[in-house]
Amino acid sequence: MMDVESVMCECCGLTEDCTQHYISEVKANFAGKWLCGLCSEVVNDEVSRDLKQTTLEEALNAHVLFCGKFKANPAELVAAGMKQMLRRRSGDMLPAKSKMFGRSKF
Ligand SMILES: [Zn+2]
Repeated sequence: MMDVESVMCECCGLTEDCTQHYISEVKANFAGKWLCGLCSEVVNDEVSRDLKQTTLEEALNAHVLFCGKFKANPAELVAAGMKQMLRRRSGDMLPAKSKMFGRSKF
């Protein structure tokens, strides 16, 4: 028999019923915060994509702020989260920064 506990996502406020073992595993991965499946995927995606520039804490804080805007409307949050991921993935092919650091005029 499993010990199941209700836990709330620190980002979007979604509540899920999880085993205590799973909850502590997720918390260990996200600096003591519990994230739902979608949020943890977005944060992981951000960190693994940009390992040297984005720390877990930064990705986490950015996503908490991002989710905060949509807390009033969870359906919109899911749609926006997906759009954010898609936009970022396609953005990888067109890095805006390379224009600035690419070629010198001199
Ligand atoms: Zn969440």
